[in-house]
Amino acid sequence: MSGCDPIARAVERTDAPSANANNALACTTLRCDADDDRANASTAARASTDISTTWTTPNHTRPGYISAEPLEHLALAGVTPEAVTDVVFTHLHFDHVGWATNEDEPVFVNATYRAHAADLEYFDDPQLDEYQTGKLMGAVLTPRERLAPVRDRIVPFDGDVTLAPGVDIRSAPGHTPGSAVVVLSSGLDRALLLGDVVHCPVELVDDEWAAIGDVDPVLARRTRELWSAEAAGERTITAAPHFPGMEMGRLLGGTGTRRWIFT
Ligand SMILES: [Zn+2]
Repeated sequence: MSGCDPIARAVERTDAPSANANNALACTTLRCDADDDRANASTAARASTDISTTWTTPNHTRPGYISAEPLEHLALAGVTPEAVTDVVFTHLHFDHVGWATNEDEPVFVNATYRAHAADLEYFDDPQLDEYQTGKLMGAVLTPRERLAPVRDRIVPFDGDVTLAPGVDIRSAPGHTPGSAVVVLSSGLDRALLLGDVVHCPVELVDDEWAAIGDVDPVLARRTRELWSAEAAGERTITAAPHFPGMEMGRLLGGTGTRRWIFT
């Protein structure tokens, strides 16, 4: 492309596969050409969705949540933290905002951070229970504390928004009030970055499966079913940050049962 073809341009896995498949933790870096003639200077040259986990910050690594340093993998992809223009949080659980800041400083110093307004309000509550803050699982900082150094640079979104040509953020509430999905499109091809709408591919195959931790389980199931329908088809690849190894896969249907294959 002379511009940004987000799918062909690489959905790059920034984080390494976890040694423990059940606890895969990852973020995704999207790269678009800065000279994209379809994008103006105000749109993203690069965008990152989710930035791994509090548990992998340099000062706190938890056994069982082994994950390579996201910044090292960003460097392997040839991207410096300074070059990241947009950080999109699919939601504000502690294990999705860990690399937003480090030592009370922003990690992506030139980036606009983006989060759904409903999550900003929900996680701003100092009385939020210890499960949702992550304290119960050993988080050093709550999302509110983690994001405090960048709070004034977070631009809230509400509902569905287009971040750049072919890069859309879609509302997907239930797991948290402001959960979102990133949809990449290129012609008839699409890639879905589902955040924590699902934690494991089986949740796309069988509606009865769900992970614990949804703020509103009934709404989360409805949202999951909707995105399972969206994901079905050969022209769509799908990933979520807790999928084993952050591998993209395809959800195939059409014979009465859905089937998941890793690409
Ligand atoms: Zn979550």
